[in-house]
Amino acid sequence: MVSVLWIAAALMALRLVADLVLSALNRAEVRRHAGEPPAAVAAIMDRPTYGKAVAYTLEKSRFGMLTEIFDTLVLAMVLFGGVLPALFDIAAGWGGPDSTWNHALFILLAAVLLSIPALPFEWWEQFRLEQKFGFNKSTPGLWVMDKVKGALLMFAIGFPLLWVLLSVVAWTGANWWIWGFVLMFGFQLLMLILYPKVILPLFNKLTPLPEGDLRTRLLALGDRTGFQAKTIEVIDGSKRSGHSNAYFTGFGRFRRIVLFDTLIAQLTAEELEAVLAHEIGHYRRGHIPKMIAMSAVMMLAGFAAIAWLARSPWFNPAFGFPPGQIAPSFLLFGLLSGAITFWFGPLGNLLSRKYEYEADAFARDAMGGPAAMIGALRKLAQKNLTNLTPHRWFSGFYYSHPTLVEREAALVQS
Ligand SMILES: [Zn+2]
Repeated sequence: MVSVLWIAAALMALRLVADLVLSALNRAEVRRHAGEPPAAVAAIMDRPTYGKAVAYTLEKSRFGMLTEIFDTLVLAMVLFGGVLPALFDIAAGWGGPDSTWNHALFILLAAVLLSIPALPFEWWEQFRLEQKFGFNKSTPGLWVMDKVKGALLMFAIGFPLLWVLLSVVAWTGANWWIWGFVLMFGFQLLMLILYPKVILPLFNKLTPLPEGDLRTRLLALGDRTGFQAKTIEVIDGSKRSGHSNAYFTGFGRFRRIVLFDTLIAQLTAEELEAVLAHEIGHYRRGHIPKMIAMSAVMMLAGFAAIAWLARSPWFNPAFGFPPGQIAPSFLLFGLLSGAITFWFGPLGNLLSRKYEYEADAFARDAMGGPAAMIGALRKLAQKNLTNLTPHRWFSGFYYSHPTLVEREAALVQS
């Protein structure tokens, strides 16, 4: 039993060390260029903005390092300190021998308890760090409301879902993990459709882009590129943060494009058109179904792993839980799997960066040249104080998008 705990602790420590080393390398690289930006970067940012971006990157990285260490320590204390088995005993006492609702509640309560220690860090990041660099637009009242709403939603959606999942396990026998996967994957697809319609409006206001030159332009672009958009929506991201973004959600008939109001304020009409063309590029190149298919494969593998661990006589008991109980196996897997999936992150990011290059190329062709896309990317980097000189290992490991210098080079040459 001891060896299982040692392996779990070693995996967690290894992940933390890798994370800290990569961040330290990245900070060293940023400091190395702090006095004199590389030529390609000097063309993107003026000196005062570059200086601010360096300061923002370094401060965020140092704060992230503290957060990582703290989170890992909390997780270790919870996993190895006997808190969770005590909570499980209490929850098990609420129901009969065959009831599953109390086991679902146990998983939720554990998740809520685990998220509490991180709250002061989240507060500091929003109201100290982001505030200092002018990005915070939220208020303490809004922040607290967001957390309360999030917790209520977790119970309103998570509780019935976990209850059904645990019931499916009880009904379907040894092959439960296939049925569990079908249930959760179906839920994920449903959320892709429902999230922007039902959940997002609880936090943000979405409004159709008003009639006018910009809307006419963007809809014409949609027609030209084979993307008939019914609406383009604007989200009031400025309610919480000055950071700007655009994204694309859903699939098939349910696809929708959402632009941040902050983005509309920062870019010219032509640059916004290029950003939309990039998003349409993701759609036309089939990136979204490919990503969904890949996450399905990962989820199925996860369920198979949980089934294997839950069947084993050593997994639950090593952490103080009775063997054969599925709810603790789910929770333990949820808490520990990050230490393993961390190492697969770079593979996913490699693929994601390939898709970004493809979408950029699509946007360039749709716009008849790279100028508008480059203009948009430069402004986004300036307004968001993006780090333009990350360490190669750091960006290779963590970045889902190529760096701006890489994107510009690809836009101009290929
Ligand atoms: Zn993209």
